[in-house]
Amino acid sequence: MSDPMAVGILRRDGRTDPFFDGAAEDRLVIKRCAPCDRWFAPDQVACDGCDDEEMSWAEATGEAALVTWTVTHGRPAEDGSAPPPAHLALVELAEGPWLHARLDGVRPASLREGLALRAVFVHPEEGESYLLFRPA
Ligand SMILES: [Zn+2]
Repeated sequence: MSDPMAVGILRRDGRTDPFFDGAAEDRLVIKRCAPCDRWFAPDQVACDGCDDEEMSWAEATGEAALVTWTVTHGRPAEDGSAPPPAHLALVELAEGPWLHARLDGVRPASLREGLALRAVFVHPEEGESYLLFRPA
């Protein structure tokens, strides 16, 4: 079975560099088709409206709403301690696109469809900055 946390999470692959460059500066940068005035997820290849493959990148507000989520429980560590459960969410950005990302700082009982979220970026010492969503 593949790692459920890996599903849908963006990886830098050359086509998504502006997203990661933005993330490093705490900016949520996603794709936008200016002629159609529509926004898309960073890994969208072409505009659904006009098939334009030369979409621009633009900074989104970072506001989002929770669509759905799953809770994953990691494997216990060698000392037997269990890592805290992780919440992997599908969120709808205020601009319209849907993104997969982890949730942070949420109480499981507070999770509900439509919960207002805000994008935050984590900058690990090694590797790419990555996106999380926290309750707004
Ligand atoms: Zn378009």
